[in-house]
Amino acid sequence: MTELSRYREISFSSPEAIREVQEGRLRKHLVYCREHSPYYRRVLQDIDLDFEKITLDLISRLPFTDKSEIEKYNHDLCAVAPDKIVDIVLSSGTTGSPTLVMYTEHDLRRLAYNEEISFQGCGMTRDDVVLLTCTIDRCFVAGLAYFLGVRSVGAAAIRSGQNSVESHWEIIRRMNPTIIVGVPTFLKKLGLYVQERGVDPGQLRVSKLICIGEPLRDKYLKLLKIGEDLEKIWQAQCFSTYASSEVVTTFCECSARQGGHLHPDLAVLEIVDEAGRAVPAGTIGEVVITPLAVEGMPLVRFKTGDVSFLIDKPCSCGKNSPRLGPILGRKKQMMKIRGTTLYPQAVYSALDEIEAVGEYYLVVSRESNLSDTITIYAAVNDASCTAEVIQDRLQARLRVKPSVVIDSPEAVRQQVFNPKSRKPIRFRDKRQGMK
Ligand SMILES: [Zn+2]
Repeated sequence: MTELSRYREISFSSPEAIREVQEGRLRKHLVYCREHSPYYRRVLQDIDLDFEKITLDLISRLPFTDKSEIEKYNHDLCAVAPDKIVDIVLSSGTTGSPTLVMYTEHDLRRLAYNEEISFQGCGMTRDDVVLLTCTIDRCFVAGLAYFLGVRSVGAAAIRSGQNSVESHWEIIRRMNPTIIVGVPTFLKKLGLYVQERGVDPGQLRVSKLICIGEPLRDKYLKLLKIGEDLEKIWQAQCFSTYASSEVVTTFCECSARQGGHLHPDLAVLEIVDEAGRAVPAGTIGEVVITPLAVEGMPLVRFKTGDVSFLIDKPCSCGKNSPRLGPILGRKKQMMKIRGTTLYPQAVYSALDEIEAVGEYYLVVSRESNLSDTITIYAAVNDASCTAEVIQDRLQARLRVKPSVVIDSPEAVRQQVFNPKSRKPIRFRDKRQGMK
């Protein structure tokens, strides 16, 4: 058994045993950062703590690292000699210029192990045939991580990647996958395409959809409309998984499908408020991750910019590791409307539930220091679905009443689908001074 997978079963141990393993790994991690990372050597030098004895309670005394620091000190964050780097990943930065994330051979093995235990948690076995619909090239890490994970489980990978629905369907017909990994909206498009070909996706061998990149559940852990649609179309179970290039650590749902499990031997997870103080389980805040046992670009208390909450109750799958709730939005996209805090995702989910609403986007502007104004531009496929009808539905669901403008499908599509952007643009932030 390698050092990496030594604590493979730790999630099933008591919270005390989990804590002990995390603290042991955290101590090693901090000592490593101070000795090998030029950035942390500088940042951690004045901290009056004995890293070799540090406990989790004291982690709040360590500084945060955010994306802007990675951008600014990118080179100094690399903790290994250039000849130890085996893969360089690009991650989106805050100002448009992507940052580099350096991986060593050890980090790729860690990545494989991380995905292996994540996939096994949702029931993948060596008998599975897994269709990967995410890109493995263009310096992204996701596709590579999933490929390494499938390989580690011993299942068969089909690296179809970012491809058209036509070619995926051809591959499904020929290779008969049991699991598909992909972005929820794309998996829905694929399922609908299969239906149009006169085949019921529910009759295929696909029994699990591992969903990446977009949320699947709301803050009550209930499936969003997109998740319900996927389960209905494919007659398969949906699992949500969350990770980022910087933290090299996945939070993947288990068979209970109630939040993504933390691998305690691979990371320390915190949720913090505006002031950077840890909040109790169930309270919404920013996700902060300290990935453990990373060699190339180790990080301490990385502020992901994503918003979620912690679930600390034992899980019905038998694991005692804490779980991360669904990602509710990006911190910088938080809107305050007359005292109510809201993220774009909640508005999208509410709009998705209205059958007559087609494409849409929202514009947020600042009304005063305390309140923002939201205007939704939507296309509808039924004239009886007026702006008032949409407003009333949103008010019932979100407790705020945004302005709604009905526009032509062409005009809305033009705003949402920009040829220069890889993803649809549904959120336009016109608030002064906002990033
Ligand atoms: Zn579980």
